[in-house]
Amino acid sequence: MEASGFDVVVVGGGNAALSAALSAAEAGAKVALLERAPEEKRGGNSRFTGGGFRMVHHGAQDIKRIVPDLSDADIARTDFGEYSAEDYLDDLGRVTQYFIDPDLADTLVHNSTDTVHWLMGRGVKFLPNYGRQAYNHEGRFKFFGGVVIYANGGGAGLVESEYKAAAAHGVMIHYAARATGIVRGKGGVEGIRSIRDGAEETIARRAIVLACGGFESNREWRSRYLGPGWDMAKVRGTRYNTGDGIRMALDIGAQSYGQWSGAHAVAWERYANDFGDVDGQHSAGYRHSYPFGLMVNANGERFVDEGADFRNYTYAKYGRAVLAQPGGYAWQVFDAQALPLLRDEYKMRGATKVRAVSIEELAAKMEDVDATGFLKTVRDYNAAVRRDVKFDPNIKDGKATVGLALNKSNWANTMEKAPFEAYSVGCGITFTFGGLKIDTKGHVLDIEDAPIAGLYAAGELVGGLFYFNYPGSAGLMAGAVFGRIAGRSAGTFALKR
Ligand SMILES: Cc1cc2nc3c(=O)[nH]c(=O)nc-3n(C[C@H](O)[C@H](O)[C@H](O)COP(=O)(O)OP(=O)(O)OC[C@H]3O[C@@H](n4cnc5c(N)ncnc54)[C@H](O)[C@@H]3O)c2cc1C
Repeated sequence: MEASGFDVVVVGGGNAALSAALSAAEAGAKVALLERAPEEKRGGNSRFTGGGFRMVHHGAQDIKRIVPDLSDADIARTDFGEYSAEDYLDDLGRVTQYFIDPDLADTLVHNSTDTVHWLMGRGVKFLPNYGRQAYNHEGRFKFFGGVVIYANGGGAGLVESEYKAAAAHGVMIHYAARATGIVRGKGGVEGIRSIRDGAEETIARRAIVLACGGFESNREWRSRYLGPGWDMAKVRGTRYNTGDGIRMALDIGAQSYGQWSGAHAVAWERYANDFGDVDGQHSAGYRHSYPFGLMVNANGERFVDEGADFRNYTYAKYGRAVLAQPGGYAWQVFDAQALPLLRDEYKMRGATKVRAVSIEELAAKMEDVDATGFLKTVRDYNAAVRRDVKFDPNIKDGKATVGLALNKSNWANTMEKAPFEAYSVGCGITFTFGGLKIDTKGHVLDIEDAPIAGLYAAGELVGGLFYFNYPGSAGLMAGAVFGRIAGRSAGTFALKR
C-alpha cells in the first residue's frame, strides 16, 4: 500500500464531505478529499439544492444574528415565528412515523443553530427565504414550515463557499477520483482504494470519512431496494451517487440501517432528463405548488390530500404516490385563483403543460387522463369545498372539503375560475433513506453496534434519520451537523493513532 502524508481521507464532494473536511482540518489533521465528479460538476446533490437549512430559532433576533443585514423594515413586515427544539423533534418524529433514531434526531436538532453559525464563520452567507418559505399575504410575510434561512446563492453558492474554505484550510482535493474500497486491518481501517485517471491505487490513511451520498442514481439498486417501477424515476440531482460508500462499508462489516425501501421523492416534470444537470436549468423540474390545486391520475381521480400540510411536510413523500399511479404519472391542475401562487419553475421552458379557458377544454387537452372521470372529480370537489372559510396560503387555513372519500384539508379553493392550467408530473427521486449506522460521534458501527476503528460517515448515506417522509431542508442541516462531528472525530482519532 502506498504511504501518503495525509491523516484523513474524506470521500465525497458535497456539503457533508466539505463540512467533514473542514472540521477534520480544524482538529489538526492533514486532509485529502476524493470527489468522484470532475471539477466542473463537483458538489453532489448539495449543489443542486435551494440551499435551505432547517434550524432551531426563537424569532427575529436569532435570525438577525445570522442575517446581520436584515433591516428594521424587513423585521416589521415579517413574522419569523419560532422553531424550538421541541418543534423540530416533533416534526422529525411525526413525518417519520416515529421511526427516526432518537439519538441522531437529538444530535441534529441540538447542533443545528450552532452549526449554521459555524458555517458562517467559514464563509457561508445566509439569507431569509422570502417567496419560498413565506408568502406575501395582505402586506405581511409569515414563515410557515419551520424553515427561514437559505445559503446565499442556493446550493451552488453554498458549496462554492465551502470549497473556498476547504482550500484555505489546506484540504487537498482530488477530482474525478472514485473511491472503490476500504482496506481493513487488525486495528481498524488502514487505507482506501480508488480509481484516479483510470488507474487503481491503494493509499494508507489513518481515518476515513464516507460522505459520498446515497444510491438514488443507481437504477439497478433503486429497483432492487425501493421496488418495481423505481428504475423509471428521474434523478433530480447528481449522477454520481450510486451507493459506493454504503457498499464499501458493508463489505468490511458495517451495519445496514434505516429504511432501505424509502426515499425522498417528489412530483417532478414528467419528461425531465434522467439526471440533473448543474449546467442547465436543473431547477425547472420542481412542481411544488400542488397544495393550491388538485392532483389527478390517469383515471382523472385524486389520490392524495394536496392540502394535508405545508408543502415542506408532504412534498418528499408525494413522488412515491405519483409513481404508484397507473402509468406512474399525474397532472397538477390549477385555476386562475392559484396561478399567481405558482412557483417560478412552472413558468420555465420544458414544462409539460396545457392551458384552457374552460375546465372541459382542459380535460380534452390532458390527453392521457380520462376526461369523464376528471370532470366528475372537479364537480364533486367544487361541491364539497367549504366556502365559508377564508383562503390564506401562510397558515393551515382549514379551508377544506367536506364529505369526499379523500378530502383536501387546507387551501381548498374551488376549481372554477378561468383560465385553467395543468402540468404533467412523474416521480423525481432526491435521495435514498437507507444506509449505514453511525453513533452520535459519527463512527460507523458494525453489526454488534461497535465502532469500526477509523471509519466515520455523514450525509445522505447515513441511515436512521428519515423514514417514509422528510421535513424540508433537514438534509443540508443533517449533512453539516454530522459532517462536522464526523470530521472532528476522524481528525482527533487519526492524530492519536
Ligand atoms: C434538486 C434538489 C434540491 C434540494 N433542496 C434541498 C434544500 O433546499 N435543503 C436541503 O436541506 N436539502 C435539499 N436537498 C437534499 C440535499 O441535496 C441532500 O440532503 C444533501 O445535499 C446531501 O448531502 P451529501 O453531502 O450527503 O451528498 P451530496 O451533496 O450528494 O454529495 C455526495 C458526493 O459524493 C460524491 N461521490 C459519490 N460516490 C463517490 C465515490 N465513490 N468516490 C468519491 N466521491 C463520490 C459525489 O460526486 C458527490 O460529490 C435537495 C436535493 C436536490 C437533488
